[in-house]
Amino acid sequence: MQQRSTDNLNFESNLLKNKANHMRDVFNFNAGPGMLPEEVLLQAQAEMLDWHGTGISIMEHGHRGPEFQQVAEQTEADLRELMNIPQNYHVFFLPGGATAQFAMVPLNLLGRKMTADYVDTGIWSKKAIEEAKHYGDIRVVAEVEKKNNWITVPSQEHWSLNPQAAYLHYTPNETIEGIEFNWLPQTGEVPLVADMSSMILSRPVDVTKYAVIYAGAQKNMGQAGITVVIIRDDLIQTALPHTPSLYRYQIHAETHSFYNTPPTYSWYMMGLVLAWMKRQGGVAEFYQRNTRKAAKLYGFIDQHADFYQCNIDPAYRSLMNVVFTLPDEALTKTFLTEAAQVGLAHLRGHRSVGGVRASIYNSMPEAGVDALVGFMGEFARKYG
Ligand SMILES: *Cc1c(COP(=O)(O)O)cnc(C)c1O
Repeated sequence: MQQRSTDNLNFESNLLKNKANHMRDVFNFNAGPGMLPEEVLLQAQAEMLDWHGTGISIMEHGHRGPEFQQVAEQTEADLRELMNIPQNYHVFFLPGGATAQFAMVPLNLLGRKMTADYVDTGIWSKKAIEEAKHYGDIRVVAEVEKKNNWITVPSQEHWSLNPQAAYLHYTPNETIEGIEFNWLPQTGEVPLVADMSSMILSRPVDVTKYAVIYAGAQKNMGQAGITVVIIRDDLIQTALPHTPSLYRYQIHAETHSFYNTPPTYSWYMMGLVLAWMKRQGGVAEFYQRNTRKAAKLYGFIDQHADFYQCNIDPAYRSLMNVVFTLPDEALTKTFLTEAAQVGLAHLRGHRSVGGVRASIYNSMPEAGVDALVGFMGEFARKYG
């Protein structure tokens, strides 16, 4: 105890020093885990040794005690408020990443139909499809295509939807390729399931149009280790018989995500991010900022199309992951090296697609995009 108090004092003076210095001098464009707001990191730092005067870190408190219960409940309340989630939807906070949902969705939703429809728009869609195939008859009803040199998604009249499908699964934002839907698939009575890992809370979403929404926290709302599942309450009772307990939505509904020890610190961090989002003005405000940031970056790319190229159909360009290329590999390498030298970090495209990817999640300030655009201009003048 004695030791801790002394540490605390040192630590507080460090914190003040950090606050005075403010602003880390790096903009982190990583796709995931992504950048976190400085304000949130400072708060976590300030509360690290002593959460709310308890003398104990939140990660040391028992998950069933009143301290962590308060964190858990406030986080859920804030998410419900930010996304306007109706009462007939459960919200789960689960381990296993979005990848665990690739299995949990079919295990819990295939039911007696044993067939589901999937839209394949990229690498994350494909992973979801491959996993689902272990459990039922999975049909791919639409795929990205190349049209007039643009990568695009066929409009829904070209999809072959099965009205008997247990659900339709799609990925509103493909994090790796930078492809995002700006329209909602119409599935009639067929439940709509969305992997919103890299766009949740980036723009307003009408939750009532979805049966299931899931998203890992580490892209746009926190750190790795926790995944949010938002699910309509009539859909949790049909798990296939061999489904493990930890993979049953019903069990998470009954235990409020406390069937086993949840990832408490990740849950707490998400709570800090959501509270920060509320202070900043909520999803509508972030949507405006995100629209401005993306417009700036794509606008610049298109104006310099002899050097920078984005081959995604403008109607499907991601607000969150801006993917583009330079004239050749060598220049791309130089670009990444020189960008890192001026504090523009982690711009390398995913290893499967190459090129450059700037992930500009909610936490990326507009100043980060301005700095990137400024650097891109100089780089093109120097090497173009
Ligand atoms: C990152 C990501 C995943 C995988 O998340 P994990 O936490 O690594 O399981 C799945 N889907 C999308 C769209 C992603 O961006």
